[in-house]
Amino acid sequence: MDKPKPLLSAGTKEHVYHCAKCGLCLEVCPVYRELLVESASPRGKVQLAKHIIEGNLDITRHMSEILFSQCLLCGSCVAACPSGVDQAALFSGLRWRATERHGIPLVKKLFFYVLAHKWIMSSSAWFGRWARKIFSGLKIEDHILLGNLSLAGVPPFNKTFFNDETPEVVSASGGRKGRVLYFHGCATNYVFADIGHSVVSVLSRMGLDVTVPKGQSCCGLPVFLSGDRKTSLKCMEENLTLFARDEFDAVIVDCATCGSALRKEYPHILRELRDLGEPIGADMIEKAELLASKVRDVSEFVAEHMHWLPEMEHRGPEVRVTYHDPCHLLKGQGVGSEPRKILRAIPGIKFVEMNEAGTCCGGGGEFQIEHGETSALITERKLGNIYDVQAEVVATGCPGCNITIGAHLDKTKGIQVMHPLQLLQRALPDKK
Ligand code: SF4
Ligand code: SF4
Repeated sequence: MDKPKPLLSAGTKEHVYHCAKCGLCLEVCPVYRELLVESASPRGKVQLAKHIIEGNLDITRHMSEILFSQCLLCGSCVAACPSGVDQAALFSGLRWRATERHGIPLVKKLFFYVLAHKWIMSSSAWFGRWARKIFSGLKIEDHILLGNLSLAGVPPFNKTFFNDETPEVVSASGGRKGRVLYFHGCATNYVFADIGHSVVSVLSRMGLDVTVPKGQSCCGLPVFLSGDRKTSLKCMEENLTLFARDEFDAVIVDCATCGSALRKEYPHILRELRDLGEPIGADMIEKAELLASKVRDVSEFVAEHMHWLPEMEHRGPEVRVTYHDPCHLLKGQGVGSEPRKILRAIPGIKFVEMNEAGTCCGGGGEFQIEHGETSALITERKLGNIYDVQAEVVATGCPGCNITIGAHLDKTKGIQVMHPLQLLQRALPDKK
C-alpha cells in the first residue's frame, strides 16, 4: 500500500510545536480583532493545524472554510510571534491540501488560468475595458458587487498595457550609476500604468539604465496562496528565466505582493515542494535564491540612494499625505521607514502619520470578494484612521491596497490614493 502523502514538509510542520500559546499574535490579527473567536486567531489556527498534522482532525469542507475565510495571510502574526512560528507557511500549505481535496471553484480556476497566461490576460483586460466603456452610460457598474467591492470603485484597465508602451531599455539620464531590471507585475501592466511610468522615470533620472523585460508573467503568488500550486509554478519558472540574472545590480519591484513573492516566497515554496518529493531541480532553487538576493522594493531602493536624485522642487499648494503600510511590504519585507523617508523629503508634502498605519486594509486579494463581511469590518477601521488625520492623499506601495482603499473612500472627501513614487516624480524637475 502507498504511504500517505505528507501534508507539509518536516520543516514547516515543526512550527506547530514551537507555539507557546502565549496569545501575543491575537491583537495583531485583523480577522481575530473583528470576529473575536479563537478559531479565527492565529493561535487557534496553529492548534487546528497541529491536530490536522497529527491526524486527529481531517481537512473537511468546514476546516477548509476556516483556512480560507478566517485568514488574509497578511503575515502580521508571523512578524509578532516571539517563538518564530511561521503561521503563514503552515496555513498556505494546508490551503494547498484543502484545494487538492475539495477542488477549486470553477470561476477561481478560470481566473487563475487567465492570470497565468499572458495573452489570455491581455485579451481579457482589453475586453473588460471595452465592456465598461460600452455599458458606462447604463450605470450597471454601480450595481455589480464583488463581495465587498463595487465594480464602480475599481479602476479601469489601462488603454495600452504598460509593457507594450514602454521601451525594453530606458537609458540613464546623465552619468550611468548602475543597471536594474524592473518587475512591474500585473497591476501596473493592466491597471496602474502611471505608477510604472513614474518608477521608470525616477530610476532613469537617478542615473540607472532600466530594463523592462518583455513578456514578464504574473508573480504567481495570488494563485499559489489560493492553493493552486501547479499554475503558479508556471509563472515562477517564466519569471526566474527572465529575472534571475547576475549582471544587474537589482531587480526593482513596485508591488508589495510581487516583491514578497520574488524575495521570500519563491525560495520557500520551491524548497517546500522539493522536500515533498515534487520534481524541483537544484538549478531552479539556485535561481530563486539569486533572484531573492537582488530584489528591492522601489521605495527601499530609492531611499537608500536619495543622493542620486535630482534636486526636488515645491510645486503647487501643500498636500497633506499619510501612508498605509501594505502587509506584504511591512511584514513581508521589513520595508516601512523607507517610503516615509521619501515622503518626508518631498517639498510641499505635510506628512501625517495615521493610527494603525501598519494594520491590514482588509483587501487580501480575493478575500474581499469571497469574504466580504469580514473584509468590510477591517476596511472600515482603516478608513476611520485615514479620515482622522484629514489626509488629502493616502500613499501606499501596493496596488491591491490602492484598489481596496480607493474603492471605499468617501468620494465627497476627494482623497486620492497614490504610490510614493508618483508623488516623488511630481516633485522632480522636468527632464531636459
Ligand atoms: S504569538 Fe506565536 S507562540 Fe504565541 S500564541 Fe501566537 S503563534 Fe503561538
Ligand atoms: S496571517 Fe494575518 S489574518 Fe492570517 S492569522 Fe496571521 S495575522 Fe491573522
